[in-house]
Amino acid sequence: MAEEQPHILLVEDEINLARGICFNLEQDDFRVSHVESGEEALERLRFDRFSLVILDVMLPGMDGFAVCRAIRGQDSRVPILILTARTDEEDRIIGLESGADDYLTKPFSLSEFLLRVKGMLRRSAWYRPEPIEEAYRFGDNEVFLLSYHARTAQGEIDLTDLEVRMLSLFFQKEGEAVTRKELLERVWGYSSDTETRTLDNFIVRLRKYFEPDPANPVFFQTVRGVGYRFSRSALTRHT
Ligand code: CA
Repeated sequence: MAEEQPHILLVEDEINLARGICFNLEQDDFRVSHVESGEEALERLRFDRFSLVILDVMLPGMDGFAVCRAIRGQDSRVPILILTARTDEEDRIIGLESGADDYLTKPFSLSEFLLRVKGMLRRSAWYRPEPIEEAYRFGDNEVFLLSYHARTAQGEIDLTDLEVRMLSLFFQKEGEAVTRKELLERVWGYSSDTETRTLDNFIVRLRKYFEPDPANPVFFQTVRGVGYRFSRSALTRHT
């Protein structure tokens, strides 16, 4: 139920405008979470999956462009609609270069806004039944990071946001040892390594999904005293 209802993150510090947007989106059956700063938005994006981010450019603290870059830096493919107060061509270009997918200039009409939002949701990867996306392959597995799913020897599985974050970090660092600290920081956003069990439980889960023999992992290897290493080919196994 809630899973199928698009969940939108609105980042807007003008309270009246934010209220109006929330009200109208909710009338149209969207779920909306509203935050007033970029910092809060990044925090929310760490733990929740959204179908769309609506991002004001002029924010207290980090501006919308910086937030946009940070979202893309976290490797998130969530569609981003930027709200800019200026009609400046420059602003639009910076916005799109920062990783936004579309922009709307304030003031905008409600109908224009809703059309834009719906259009973006329709185009977004999560609304495509058959994503046109190249798979990341290893062993008998195919992983589709953009659409959060994988084909494994056991069948099709849906991936959670954290799983996608962890897999994308491993894929980027293929063949390298990734420290526990880095995994905790980049996947969970922790600054210390207190919750080490969470990480180990996660690795157990990935091995169950993807390893032919989870007890003797070849893809997600333990690097004793350091962390873990992902290796695409079982032949490069380090013993
Ligand atoms: Ca603003």
